[in-house]
Amino acid sequence: MTEAAGTAGADRPFDAECLFCKIVSGAIPAEVVLDTPRALAFRDINPQAPLHVLVIPKGHYRDVAELAAAGGGLLDELVLAARDVAVEAGAADKGYRVVFNVGAGAGQTVYHTHAHVLGGRGLTWPPG
Ligand code: C5P
Repeated sequence: MTEAAGTAGADRPFDAECLFCKIVSGAIPAEVVLDTPRALAFRDINPQAPLHVLVIPKGHYRDVAELAAAGGGLLDELVLAARDVAVEAGAADKGYRVVFNVGAGAGQTVYHTHAHVLGGRGLTWPPG
């Protein structure tokens, strides 16, 4: 298991109460698979597919809409990081899914933007 490098205090939005901010800072361990200057990808603790990785911005944005509104290309970086994760896992050729749950009704439980990257098995549509 790899722990995220300590990055607390960096010049970006941070919420001391946020679980994923604590993963970014290294206060809570995670199995990191990709670490870039502005994004982190780590394995979901409750995987729903052979590949189930969360890609998050290191800064705190409550959901993908808030992240997109902030601009600066971060959303692009998350999507490209998701692609890199899928390629590295060998899941890209057969297709993979990138999901942002927004709001409780859609299943969002952690209010720090995260893309679920799912793959490694057939994925049905529509999702539940
Ligand atoms: O979209 P949603 O907010 O429900 O996704 C949160 C995800 O964070 C869940 O899939 C959950 O398993 C994952 N999680 C995690 N590590 C934690 C806490 C939650 O991977 N320490």
